[in-house]
Amino acid sequence: MIKITLPDGAVKEVEKGTTPMEVAKSISEGLARNVISAKFNDTVVETVTPLTSDGALTLYTWNNDEGKKAFWHSTSHVVAQALEELYPGIKLTIGPAIENGFYYDVDFGDQSISEKDFPKIEKKALEIARGKHDYNMRSVSKADALSYYKEQGNEYKVELIENLDDGTITFCDHSTFTDLCRGGHIPNTGIIKAIKLLSVAGAYWRGDENNTQLTRVYGISFPKQKELTEYLQLLEEAKKRDHRKLGKELELFTFSQKVGQGLPLWLPNGAALRERLEQFLKKAQKKAGYEMVVTPHIGQKELYVTSGHYAKYGEDSFQPIHTPKEDEEFLLKPMNCPHHCEIYNSYPFSYKDLPKRYAEFGTVYRYEQSGELHGLTRVRGFTQDDAHIFCTTEQLNDEFKNVIDLTLYVLNSLGFEDFTAQVSVRDLENPDKYIGNTDDWEKAEQAIINAAEEKGLNYVVESGEAAFYGPKLDFMIKDALGRNWQLGTIQVDYNLPKRFDLTYKGSDNELHRPVMIHRAPFGSMERFVALLLEHTGGNFPLWLIPTQAIVLPVSEKHEKYAEKVLNSLENHEIRALIDKRNETVGKKIREAELKKIPFMIIVGEQEEESVTISVRRHGGKDLGSLSVDAFSDLVTTEINSTLKSF
Ligand SMILES: [Zn+2]
Ligand SMILES: [Zn+2]
Repeated sequence: MIKITLPDGAVKEVEKGTTPMEVAKSISEGLARNVISAKFNDTVVETVTPLTSDGALTLYTWNNDEGKKAFWHSTSHVVAQALEELYPGIKLTIGPAIENGFYYDVDFGDQSISEKDFPKIEKKALEIARGKHDYNMRSVSKADALSYYKEQGNEYKVELIENLDDGTITFCDHSTFTDLCRGGHIPNTGIIKAIKLLSVAGAYWRGDENNTQLTRVYGISFPKQKELTEYLQLLEEAKKRDHRKLGKELELFTFSQKVGQGLPLWLPNGAALRERLEQFLKKAQKKAGYEMVVTPHIGQKELYVTSGHYAKYGEDSFQPIHTPKEDEEFLLKPMNCPHHCEIYNSYPFSYKDLPKRYAEFGTVYRYEQSGELHGLTRVRGFTQDDAHIFCTTEQLNDEFKNVIDLTLYVLNSLGFEDFTAQVSVRDLENPDKYIGNTDDWEKAEQAIINAAEEKGLNYVVESGEAAFYGPKLDFMIKDALGRNWQLGTIQVDYNLPKRFDLTYKGSDNELHRPVMIHRAPFGSMERFVALLLEHTGGNFPLWLIPTQAIVLPVSEKHEKYAEKVLNSLENHEIRALIDKRNETVGKKIREAELKKIPFMIIVGEQEEESVTISVRRHGGKDLGSLSVDAFSDLVTTEINSTLKSF
């Protein structure tokens, strides 16, 4: 007999060789019907894997992320089988589950597929799924595994197998299909009721640009047709909210191949919006005791060797710039912190001077592979709303809490209410990923948890998510598709002050080491604007939106009055435009709606006579006729309701 411990702590004594599915059955038939995957002692197992030792067992259903992962990975086998049957001679490589679905990387040789082929592939895959084939894992010797794939001429699988140890290699069979696989499958293919291929893209074998370009087929699957339908509706909604699409429509930013990929160009509307965001934060920061600083876009390589950035990222990033005569080496600034450390070092501070809070909208450059670039969320040059606080250990807790307050103020003013706080700590099993000593790390992690507790934040702790120099508190939001995005971040760092030999004179007249907080409530201007676009669908808060109102004269006759109204709005500091084109008011309204302009000001005969304006809200609500003064009050009231002072 063996002892199986369940997640609730209950211990079941079962015969050696009992499977997770049999354990599920012994709990309830209902559970057994829903179990699709399992984990035994931290290893993913099949629901039919015989358990042969004491251990902890977790059973997964479709409602767990792990269950979905098994479901989607299992579907990738079925899709691979369908592809092989439809396109004989192709070479399969890998087919993992991803956050939303799965992909399979395939070498199609001289064949190719496009979205037009999806329906027939989906049909074939569903036919296979309906056969209710079991997934069967079996061990194979390295020699047998190699000869199986050599015979097929599949050099990719051969390469994968060559990197595996004999005795650890397994194949998975279902129906007539066999694949090299570590496991983690649902019981049988019959559970897969809906399969949808989503896209095809190029992908290099092992992510290396020097290797063969493969075709990556993305897909998703569900246990019910209804769930697929709902998912596709959500995808449609997300497409409408895609910041790349909205950014173009609202004329906020663009990219130029001539300037270079991953380097956003801000258009006047976008630049004005960004300026407002900066002013908003600068104002709050000033009240919170920050001082603005300015530092250059490049720094000597030595600076980043000192900070540890070079050892960590140097090889994989933009390479040093050499001066022609002196052969000095400079790097594009990947982070502002080293520069701010040197600003701190320019003056001998005493404990009475601390905390020092240096803020900068600092532009940094980081190399991203071209395939990784994505609109404003993954770029090669971006501006952080950065600041570094240098304080004593005694001040750390208060300073950290003040930064939490500032971050919450920023998020609330921009309409982000549904966010989670994540305390990102070290991965204790991979200490090499981090710099600094264990003592400092423990202190820093504890400081963050204490501050989060005292602020009453609802937080989760994620191990392995820390920065390489220190733990952090990240604010995360979920988008329409349920994807998690990181917004602001606050980090505690004992490390850089040591590396830069930062000191202050204490009340004891001795030199002491300050502790450093890195923080950026927006994260970066680029990423923040992207998320704000997707979050609001372009309907920015009134205080931030580029154009708050548009004046629409009913006909040419009323243009003069319309100009007067515009002038008056501008005097009330309302950002307004006028649409004098020779179009119908109906058409002008429709276009203003598309541009997401919050207020449409219609002026005609009646308005001119009564010296009023007719106001229509974005989305269709008629606010009736008002004086410009009354309208201005209405705008001010709405702005003040979201934008409180810090
Ligand atoms: Zn598999
Ligand atoms: Zn920093």
